[in-house]
Amino acid sequence: MTKTIDLHIHTTASDGTVSPAAVVRCAKELGLSAVAITDHDTVSGCAEAAAAGQELGLEVVPGVELSSRYGKTIHILGYFVRTNSPALTRVLSGVVAERDARNRKMAALMAADGIPIDYDQMCSRFGTSIGRPHFGEVLVELGRAESVQDAFDRYIEKGQPYYLPRRMISIERSVEVIREAGGVPVLAHPFQYKLEEPALRQLIEHCMDHGLLGLECRYSLYDEEQSQALLKLAREYGLVPTGGSDFHGSNKPHIAIGTGTGSLAVPAAWLEGLRAVATSTKKRS
Ligand code: AMP
Ligand code: ZN
Ligand code: FE
Ligand code: FE
Repeated sequence: MTKTIDLHIHTTASDGTVSPAAVVRCAKELGLSAVAITDHDTVSGCAEAAAAGQELGLEVVPGVELSSRYGKTIHILGYFVRTNSPALTRVLSGVVAERDARNRKMAALMAADGIPIDYDQMCSRFGTSIGRPHFGEVLVELGRAESVQDAFDRYIEKGQPYYLPRRMISIERSVEVIREAGGVPVLAHPFQYKLEEPALRQLIEHCMDHGLLGLECRYSLYDEEQSQALLKLAREYGLVPTGGSDFHGSNKPHIAIGTGTGSLAVPAAWLEGLRAVATSTKKRS
């Protein structure tokens, strides 16, 4: 049996519901040979995951997933980043400040309509990378929504009364700062942006102009045909392929670590390809 890995995992450090240490324990029990922690706009779960990995003998790759502006929101994954990089730290604290300001305004809008949301309490409970899924969770607990999805549909999805946009960093800066932190920038879930092939190619080429090095080719929501199409693109552009589930715990209950919705399998060999790229960029940086 070929060994598999999962290079796209969220934890309680952002909007996942499973702690970094528990994710690593779970991956070990499932027999994976490595995981990457890729929380939204934060690397704060990486240390805990790394410690658990060391204890259990499972490789944990430090990562991040940056929400980036390119007309629409595009996600850029960063692997093998130096989590203490001053450039990355500066960018991430800016993102936290921006999120925090938006979140406070959303909470105030809800409070003005009589929904008893206490944002300071949310901060102490959920940490620094708070997003709309956390609001969804609280709205469910308050009995205002049936599920997180229902909360999105009626309250916090774009176009709903409590949605506020947040300013994101540009896609160029995302790619560049990951490189500055010694990491490998990868375009996440390329088919999620609903771009026709020419526009997708334009996106890839634009990111490559700024230092993109990889393409996420296997993903929970992609079948074999889609994965093969992405692998072909990756080969054509000389990008390293990566893959992962986008596990979020009970915030995306249909997605499991390692196997996604059932058939995901990311070969461990892909990690060696990614590591080789990381090693050569670190030498150049
Ligand atoms: P934020 O960055 O706070 O605006 O929240 C964005 C996150 O909310 C995304 O990463 C998704 O995980 C989640 N999200 C966005 N739209 C929906 C939706 N319609 N249903 C469920 N989750 C969503
Ligand atoms: Zn998420
Ligand atoms: Fe994403
Ligand atoms: Fe993700």
